[in-house]
Amino acid sequence: MIFYGCVHVERIPYNTGMTMTIDAKTQSGASRVLATVFGYESFRGDQQAIVEHVIGGGDALVLMPTGAGKSLCYQVPALVRSGVGIVISPLIALMQDQVDALTELGVRAAFLNSTQDWQDSREVEQAFLAGELDLLYVAPERLLTERCLQLLARGKLALFAIDEAHCVSQWGHDFRPEYLGLSMLHERWPNVPRIALTATATDVTRTEIAERLALGEARHFVASFDRPNIRYHIVEKQEVRKQLLQLLRQEHAGDAGIVYCLSRNKVDETAEFLCAQGIEALPYHAGLGPAVRAKNQSRFLREDGIVMVATIAFGMGIDKPDVRFVAHIDMPKSVEGYYQETGRAGRDGTPATAWLAYGLQDVVQQRRMIDESSGDDSFRRRLGSQLDAMLGLCETISCRRQRLLQYFGQTMSACGNCDNCLVPPEAWDGTVAAQKMLSTIYRLWKERGQRYGAGHLIDILRGKQTPRVLEHGHGSLTVFGIGQDLSEQAWRSVLRQLLAHSLLMVDQEGYGTLALTDQSRAVLKGERTLLLRREAERVTERSGRAGTTPRSKASQSDLPLAAQPIFEALRSWRAGIARSHGVPAYVIFHDASLREIALARPDSLEALSHVNGVGAKKLESYGESILACIAEFENAN
Ligand code: ADP
Ligand code: ZN
Repeated sequence: MIFYGCVHVERIPYNTGMTMTIDAKTQSGASRVLATVFGYESFRGDQQAIVEHVIGGGDALVLMPTGAGKSLCYQVPALVRSGVGIVISPLIALMQDQVDALTELGVRAAFLNSTQDWQDSREVEQAFLAGELDLLYVAPERLLTERCLQLLARGKLALFAIDEAHCVSQWGHDFRPEYLGLSMLHERWPNVPRIALTATATDVTRTEIAERLALGEARHFVASFDRPNIRYHIVEKQEVRKQLLQLLRQEHAGDAGIVYCLSRNKVDETAEFLCAQGIEALPYHAGLGPAVRAKNQSRFLREDGIVMVATIAFGMGIDKPDVRFVAHIDMPKSVEGYYQETGRAGRDGTPATAWLAYGLQDVVQQRRMIDESSGDDSFRRRLGSQLDAMLGLCETISCRRQRLLQYFGQTMSACGNCDNCLVPPEAWDGTVAAQKMLSTIYRLWKERGQRYGAGHLIDILRGKQTPRVLEHGHGSLTVFGIGQDLSEQAWRSVLRQLLAHSLLMVDQEGYGTLALTDQSRAVLKGERTLLLRREAERVTERSGRAGTTPRSKASQSDLPLAAQPIFEALRSWRAGIARSHGVPAYVIFHDASLREIALARPDSLEALSHVNGVGAKKLESYGESILACIAEFENAN
């Protein structure tokens, strides 16, 4: 089997009689490549500046959110500069799809990684040496082998693209030790430009990437990290399965999405539960064999409307454009992680949901995990403050997006597209409630040397004569029963917010018991008032209201009714082609291109060539077939 796109078409006859070459190397400049190869009219955001910088031989460090279009930043320069663009990526399982997508565009691409046998690798190596490739994808561990380095030394290189560059950062969420070796590229090939790309946004990570990849001279391009089409929605965890089901049924029926869980067990259970409810759900976690993982990933990418239930082992590099929701049923460990995971929704720019359910138990559990983790104190402190920031995001009463971007050092005004903006939460003066809780904890510790978890503390405040209360004689405490004005649920919310404000901590000894912090005193002494978010009984109702986007299929959302039947006809045409080529449908054409075709109903190849995403090669491969599909539809209707 040959792993590279050998169908490199030199000239395409048009029905207008004119001819168009797509051999990019003979074209002048980036815009030509963008139009002829990719079929796009114009660059987005910083793309043009980046592309020109790299074509000119400069190094670049590119930070752009998922879906902003990082790939073009190295693909276009690789096609414009002479030689082969080497793309370093940790995502072995996705390389085949990436190469297939480029082949569809008429770009000569191949990969070298451990999934290939010797014969296939040799074919790719020979194609490389013969100058028959535009782009070569290589896994970092493979690149660093002497054999591969020698191979590269014998060919002509256009550039090095280091994708998922945050993998070099130890503090990021995807550290890969192999990435550390990549700094030597600069020493070995000082004249080959390097472009490092990531969707990770914190300054710490950026500095670390620049240092560790020896990108001191590189120009930094930092885009806005806002993802305006994603609606953020964070709810209190009650009966989480029911809540999830409600989200899937009411807001995302038939949509593709990802459900993130913290543990493998929970992934398996949740996937089973959803299947039993008639939702097509598949599990994914590191405990499943490689074959099962590959199969589930491939089904998620290729079939419509699959729900992937996964640990965070799933998702990096998944470029499926139409993931309509990402749901977290456990709280992520950091804002960074949350941002990356939710970022996998809505790459195509149409509305998508990021939904998270969290509760007190999440906080307690994660604190325990931090306490039990190996690593020194500063490492644990760092994990602790990451968790605090995440908690802060969950409990904020202001705009979620503002808070999220603030974490990455970017500012914006309230977004109008998060739960807090859409249905502003009520705030209430929780000072007295906080004092009741804090003094209960204080007394038990000072007077009796005892520490307890949330449940027992709430029982004491609410004056419940439980066996434990009786056994420990807690009925005689002066605080017993002074908190009957709040429900158990409301008390849980108070506790979470006290944790989020660092007015309480989960005891270092573990077991989920709660202890005061240095800051608790100010509240106890009445020196500090506390505005809390009112949650409680309204949550379920709000989860229905805040996220309602009445639509059946998101992909049709911005299409007028009259154009929908032809859009569906084009989709089924595309499905047939994708199936016969064994690639995901979006590799043939994105929904956005089909939508444009459905609206314009082009009647010639010339007219079709103006549609975004229809480059020369795709016009040649599919133009006639699309025109036939349109004609057939029109005859039948
Ligand atoms: P990223 O790697 O940053 O997550 P991709 O490179 O996968 O994003 O691009 C996201 C989507 O946007 C892709 O479908 C891509 O084809 C499309 N895209 C990128 N740049 C442009 C552009 N200039 N014009 C139109 N579509 C674009
Ligand atoms: Zn908002």
